[in-house]
Amino acid sequence: MTWLLPRLLMALVAALLGFVIGAAVRSASGADGLGLAVGVVSGVLLMMLVDAVRGSRLLGWLRGNQFENAPRDTGLWGEVGYRIERAVRDRDRAVARSRLELEQFLSAIEASPNGVLMLDLQEQIVWCNRVAADHFALDPQRDLRQRITNLVRAPAFVAYLQAGRYAEPLVLGNSRGPGTLSIVVREYGEGMRLVLSLDITERLRAEGMRRDFVANVSHEIRTPLTVLSGFIETMHSLPLTSVERDRVLVLMNQQTQRMQTLVADLLTLAQLEGSPRPGPDRWVALDALLLRVAADAEALSAGRHPLHLKPVTGVELAGVESELLSAIANLVTNAVRYTPDGGEVGVVWRLLEDGSGELAVVDTGPGIAREHIPRLTERFYRVDGSRSRETGGTGLGLSIVKHVMQRHGGELMIQSEVGKGSRFRLLFPSARVRQVSDSALGDEAAFGAAAVPGH
Ligand code: ADP
Repeated sequence: MTWLLPRLLMALVAALLGFVIGAAVRSASGADGLGLAVGVVSGVLLMMLVDAVRGSRLLGWLRGNQFENAPRDTGLWGEVGYRIERAVRDRDRAVARSRLELEQFLSAIEASPNGVLMLDLQEQIVWCNRVAADHFALDPQRDLRQRITNLVRAPAFVAYLQAGRYAEPLVLGNSRGPGTLSIVVREYGEGMRLVLSLDITERLRAEGMRRDFVANVSHEIRTPLTVLSGFIETMHSLPLTSVERDRVLVLMNQQTQRMQTLVADLLTLAQLEGSPRPGPDRWVALDALLLRVAADAEALSAGRHPLHLKPVTGVELAGVESELLSAIANLVTNAVRYTPDGGEVGVVWRLLEDGSGELAVVDTGPGIAREHIPRLTERFYRVDGSRSRETGGTGLGLSIVKHVMQRHGGELMIQSEVGKGSRFRLLFPSARVRQVSDSALGDEAAFGAAAVPGH
């Protein structure tokens, strides 16, 4: 009530002034009534004049943009101005806060990995994030207020949107490329719709790969199982001589071993995928690995190939011994298995200038046609299926090598030319290579691999 006292004071001043004017009029005119009337009117007019001036100042401020403070009058008008100004400032703050919250909300949706598109009652685009714009080939600015069905004309999408049954998502080819989208629509507000899109290309590819993998494993296991059950049937129903029996048992043993190798390779792959990357602090002597690989390769070759497998590198590699052994052994046994009798197989180590290292397994075998090379590390991919199976291959060897190298921060590089031979290179990063003693490097020129591509 701070305004009341000034108001009363002003009324008192107006009354006094009215009284003075009334008294002056009465003494001039001698009429009591006229003096009273003029005095009252003058007092009231004075009050009205003051109110009109202050009121119009406040109105002027209200009509403007209200950036400045309201007129600081005393009394009632000052109080009214102050209260209005406070309400206006509170409203401005609330609007700014809501705007900020809306911006934060929209930028959160903008950051979503899903496409988000808001449609109004007429299917016009109210807002969309960049992912949705990308999925539906829209321009987030230019296409606002456009009907979505004029811009995305895929019949399946139009029918889905208009049917109004959104319980199941729609799977749609991406209008921009070969990808696939999963689209979900949710209704909200009064007739508004939210269209959510998700790129499921990668998921479908992974599912396809998993299906292929299971089908391949089943096929690989079914074949030896069928052979085994055939032999069991034979032994059961036919009287075999002991020589025949021994032969059947040898064949049965071969099939069992084939399944065992397959299961071992599958377990190796599963282990490689499921375990953490090996740290760079466990050092393994490369020469010791090469000695073990050479012994296995000599047994496998049984003198059919000249082997050059013992370069003295004096190098240590950081990683998991069993994995490194498996990678090198896979390459060397492949070289022996696929190189015809008389062809040469060798291993060459090279320390590169930047400190990284390269172990190359080289052969003078049949080589591999260019179109197969990028696919060799796929699981169960074989160029020559029958040769692979005959020699005990599972189709998983190079896939294991690639995994091992990735886990060790390295790479598997394949160079090959039909009729000339192949070179499989394992590249190790410098952080995983250290020279601990003198090396007597394998001399590549010392064997016939000089003809191998990549020289
Ligand atoms: P597999 O168990 O069949 O040998 P891998 O994954 O080790 O499976 O190899 C995939 C395919 O690559 C093989 O089936 C074979 O056709 C081809 N291959 C691998 N190494 C060689 C090589 N040294 N010379 C020729 N072909 C090879």
